[in-house]
Amino acid sequence: MNRDPNCIFCKIVDGQIPSKKVFENEELLVFHDIRPHAPIHFLIIPKLHVPSLFEVGDEHEALLGRMLALAPKLAREQGATNGFRTVVNTGVDGGQEVYHLHVHVMGGPRPWKIG
Ligand code: 5GP
Ligand code: ZN
Repeated sequence: MNRDPNCIFCKIVDGQIPSKKVFENEELLVFHDIRPHAPIHFLIIPKLHVPSLFEVGDEHEALLGRMLALAPKLAREQGATNGFRTVVNTGVDGGQEVYHLHVHVMGGPRPWKIG
């Protein structure tokens, strides 16, 4: 599987950095955000290192579909009964901090603010 040795999320995939896991299968990993912006805040990532949505091509369509399709199931399991927010920050102008593709899923009783 393609990894970037300097990437913090690749290190989480490899178990070099600990995380609070929500879900894992062969191609995806889901874990709680270390600095949550909402009562429920987890990240859905591919195990494959793709830096951002900018680098996504036709070959990733199905992967992206499976990432997004996982959100409602896991959000419900985490207690999001009244909906949730999904965010994908992309590149410098998108405010992306970690350059390994990830979907933020945030929910829980409001008010809460997105940073
Ligand atoms: P973005 O790149 O979309 O701006 O957000 C990256 C997210 O990753 C941030 O919300 C940040 O709190 C989270 N994050 C950064 N480093 C770690 C880490 O080592 N562990 C976990 N669980 N989350 C992290
Ligand atoms: Zn990575």
